[in-house]
Amino acid sequence: MLILIYYKDILKKQHILENMSRSMFENTETAFKLKDNYSLYNAKLLFNVITKKYLVNFLTTLTLFSLKYKLPVKWILKKTLYKHFCGGVDINECEVTIQGMKKMNVNSILDYSVEALKTEQDFDKACKKKMEIVDLSFSNESIPFAVFKPTSLGRYSLFKLVNAKIKLSKEEELEWNRVIDRFNMICNYAHSKKVRLLIDAEEFEVQEAIDNLVYKMMKKYNRKSTIVYNTIQLYRWDRIPHMKNLLKDHDNSFKFGFKLVRGAYMEKERIDALKNGYNSPICSNKNETDKNFNSAIDLMFNNINSVDFFIASHNEFSTIKTVELMKKHGIKEDDEKVWFGQLYGMGDNISFNLASKGFNVAKILPFGPVENLMPYLIRRAQENSSVEGQSNRELDLIKTELFRRSKAS
Ligand SMILES: Cc1cc2nc3c(=O)[nH]c(=O)nc-3n(C[C@H](O)[C@H](O)[C@H](O)COP(=O)(O)OP(=O)(O)OC[C@H]3O[C@@H](n4cnc5c(N)ncnc54)[C@H](O)[C@@H]3O)c2cc1C
Repeated sequence: MLILIYYKDILKKQHILENMSRSMFENTETAFKLKDNYSLYNAKLLFNVITKKYLVNFLTTLTLFSLKYKLPVKWILKKTLYKHFCGGVDINECEVTIQGMKKMNVNSILDYSVEALKTEQDFDKACKKKMEIVDLSFSNESIPFAVFKPTSLGRYSLFKLVNAKIKLSKEEELEWNRVIDRFNMICNYAHSKKVRLLIDAEEFEVQEAIDNLVYKMMKKYNRKSTIVYNTIQLYRWDRIPHMKNLLKDHDNSFKFGFKLVRGAYMEKERIDALKNGYNSPICSNKNETDKNFNSAIDLMFNNINSVDFFIASHNEFSTIKTVELMKKHGIKEDDEKVWFGQLYGMGDNISFNLASKGFNVAKILPFGPVENLMPYLIRRAQENSSVEGQSNRELDLIKTELFRRSKAS
């Protein structure tokens, strides 16, 4: 009987949350104000394609093959996938988008998303670019955070060695010290300019090395205010105990900055685990991931004096839960403690509707050459082809807005 009452209560709460999120985020006129009809039709076509897994797999192989053999596909990519998910080739090309979003109270986080770099020269160049973005954020209030991906500052395979605690050769040690120096240089610079810094999370096989480095940076640079934010992937079943441990041993000499995400490498993680004979680090189903994400949100509010956080999600329920807890804890909409973020090209119904109510919102705006952004674009396509994500909702919202416009004209 008690169990029955308990489940009835959960279902009731779930139902209330569902209704609230539908009404809070369903204003498509606000969500797509910046998109003209052409862009919306492009988005509709795109989501129609990328919600189909077999098409994504086929087109991914075809595109990678074409790029490898220098077939002329860049212009198609630039007009479709790239146009929808990226700001432009360089910062100047992103300017119109940044200004347009700011008019609607939505901020931008510029992400120079080149991946799979290999040479020391490339890493130095990437480091310089991140510092330029810190400068830009310092001088432009539409850009409240800088961001970087750890393996853009060092060899992926070196992160893997450090993560596995394998003894490094003399040369590798020197190389790793250079990675630490680059990390430190960016964090120190951000600290001197009071610019907040989001550090991305990556694959399981390199993440502990990243966590250890970022933890040191938080300790060093988050004493007066929260500058460095580490990313926690809640599709990993070990992350709640991990965060509880961090918070339990915390001496309050600095603040934690956390960016909460579900995680973008699910399929690769499962294959890696199978191939290398270890337990998959990923929750066994979407429901478990969602439960973890909810627990992480609770953990943030239960430790509200020790953490500042960034809810990075397109999930309406996670967002509404955070909004409700902010109300409950008397945290104002524009309190710098809590930020919401979505990727450019996704979750516009959340970003623009939240921003219209005064919440802190920023969208990650990737930029860089088309071919360098391929890994990022493939991740977006794969994520949207997952039946358990919010991508069909994305398509429904675009169709609703196109229908609304056709009736209004
Ligand atoms: C601002 C921002 C920054 C981000 N930064 C990072 C980052 O640094 N590192 C990173 O890894 N990702 C990052 N992401 C991507 C993020 O991790 C998710 O892939 C993406 O946001 C989709 O999750 P969601 O919370 O929006 O919601 P939903 O669409 O509700 O959830 C989809 C997600 O649920 C999980 N999932 C789906 N099916 C299953 C299943 N069967 N079993 C277990 N879990 C499942 C996967 O993580 C999937 O991506 C970022 C996203 C945003 C918006």
